[in-house]
Amino acid sequence: MKSINPATGEEIATHQEMTKAQIDTALDRAEASFGIWRETPIAERTTLLSALADAYHDHREQLARMATLEMGKTLKSALAEVDKCVAAFRHYAKEGPAMLEGGSIALASGGKADLVWLPIGPVLAVMPWNFPYWQVVRFLAPCILAGNVGLLKHASNVQGVAALMQDMMGVAGAPDGLFQNLPLRSDAVADIIADDRVAAVTLTGSEGAGRAVAEQAGKALKKVVLELGGSDPFIVMPSADLDAAVEQAVTARIQNTGQSCICGKRMIVHADIYDEFLERYAAAMAAVKPGDPFAEDSDMGPLSSAEQRQTVLDQIDKMIAAGATLIGGESMAGPGAYMRAGILTDVPVDPALMGEEIFGPIAMLFKAKDMDDAIAIANAIPFGLGSSVWTEEPEEEERFVRDVQAGMTAVNQMLASAPEAPFGGVKKSGHGRELGPFGLHEFMNLKSVYRK
Ligand code: NDP
Repeated sequence: MKSINPATGEEIATHQEMTKAQIDTALDRAEASFGIWRETPIAERTTLLSALADAYHDHREQLARMATLEMGKTLKSALAEVDKCVAAFRHYAKEGPAMLEGGSIALASGGKADLVWLPIGPVLAVMPWNFPYWQVVRFLAPCILAGNVGLLKHASNVQGVAALMQDMMGVAGAPDGLFQNLPLRSDAVADIIADDRVAAVTLTGSEGAGRAVAEQAGKALKKVVLELGGSDPFIVMPSADLDAAVEQAVTARIQNTGQSCICGKRMIVHADIYDEFLERYAAAMAAVKPGDPFAEDSDMGPLSSAEQRQTVLDQIDKMIAAGATLIGGESMAGPGAYMRAGILTDVPVDPALMGEEIFGPIAMLFKAKDMDDAIAIANAIPFGLGSSVWTEEPEEEERFVRDVQAGMTAVNQMLASAPEAPFGGVKKSGHGRELGPFGLHEFMNLKSVYRK
């Protein structure tokens, strides 16, 4: 598998795929490791999580540089991503023991049921390249705390990141087999899911990958958590602070060069402020500076690959053919996969069109007649991951929280995940939750122990 620097088009490294025999050995090792780790006291598990936090902190520059090289995010955002991983490891180290307390239920018939959280076994994580550390740590930190063991099938283009994550386990002193990076292509995933040594699977990625993995997990009757894409609404009402809304609407679309599952992708603006919003938004998006991701003054790097940029350009063409107008958003010449930030206006409110996840720095802008219209546009797609709503009116806020179909709603701010809060979607954005106690419990057995 080749790692290609999307800023230059140059090959950085080639990573050898595992053979079938090596996969078999890895699964044996995972099973053996689980036998030991499941019995390891919680205090030792949290000590390892703290050691991992230290390892990521001490190697933050090295880790961040690899992400920037392999998928083009700015170095400053890669450093912030590593810091977020540190925070997640520390969160589970500190708060984890309380999350594992099951409690007790009194039975009407007499006696009680004590609840005990137990691990379930090796969990396979199929992960994407867009936040190549964070997406994995979201699964890994609770996995370690639970007493499970982890197997990682990372995206083909970030195998350098995957190898460094394996190294960090060694730096932190993790036992053999607790976490194993499996350098594999996606066609090897089905057999691993079907294998009896694997207990469950979690996937973050596209709808297509989610469908394939969910089908395989269904066949094997195994628990699956899916964190799929989205085309999040970002609704702005007349009472909102327009300066803040415009600024955050830009950040939402250019952070990670638009390659984030949760971030406003469809800006839905009330008719009374639409023209002013558009004028300011277009100016702010035009001022965004794409450039060398290692340079301090670049607002965004290239897209993660030439193919990813082509996908976005094809989506733009399709929308223009359907009647949309593009402002900015040009592809840039040269060897890197760069493009400018842009806005699509007059996109038809057609689920087949605006329901596509645009994984690039392009916003869709919609004019809503009123709040009901804004909610109707927001919900008129198959996805329901995140959402952001901007209003100073409490009744409007209440309606949005109740009626916008999403797993998460951010009020007067851009949506961003945090280690403490559950993360996940509804509709075709997947099912299950990551992070917080909920993410931990997804891959645990809640045993009821009946006692007199
Ligand atoms: P994919 O969803 O294809 O890749 C994510 C992970 O799933 C990778 O590890 C990939 O492996 C694996 N995978 C892909 N297909 C299968 C399969 N059939 N069975 C098992 N594993 C599979 O993302 P892409 O990189 O192809 O990006 C395509 C689009 O997906 C983007 O444009 C974006 O819209 C969306 N996406 C959404 C993400 C999110 O966070 N919600 C993250 C990434 C992408 P491999 O790399 O080897 O193919």
